This record gives sequence, structure tokens and C-alpha cells, in this order.
Amino acid sequence: MATARKNTARRPKPAVVECPDCHGSGETDETVCVGPRGRRKTGDKQTAVCLTCFGAGQTATT
Ligand SMILES: [Zn+2]
Repeated sequence: MATARKNTARRPKPAVVECPDCHGSGETDETVCVGPRGRRKTGDKQTAVCLTCFGAGQTATT
């Protein structure tokens, strides 16, 4: 006797790809800009949240 089977097949997890911009760290270095319109760039770097992955360090592709 065959029992009715529900479709409980697991869905494959969405592929998680390391963020190409921050390489998984979730942070990026950006050059500090100063001036009225932020034109002048200084030699300093500041850490900012990666805007590509929003700090997650991963980009999920569905
Ligand atoms: Zn990122």
C-alpha cells in the first residue's frame, strides 16, 4: 500500500557568494574626503560598511 507522500523535498540552499567588494569582511576602506563638496581626498582611509552586502559579507543569489 502506497501512502500519500507530501512533497517534503528540501529546497537547496541559496548559493551564498562571498561579497566581491569586501571579500567577506563586510567592511570596506574608503578614502577620507574633505572640503566643501568632499572633493579633496586625504591620504587617510576610513572603514565603512560595505554597501554591496550591507555588512553581511555575503551576497545571496537566488
Ligand atoms: Zn560586501
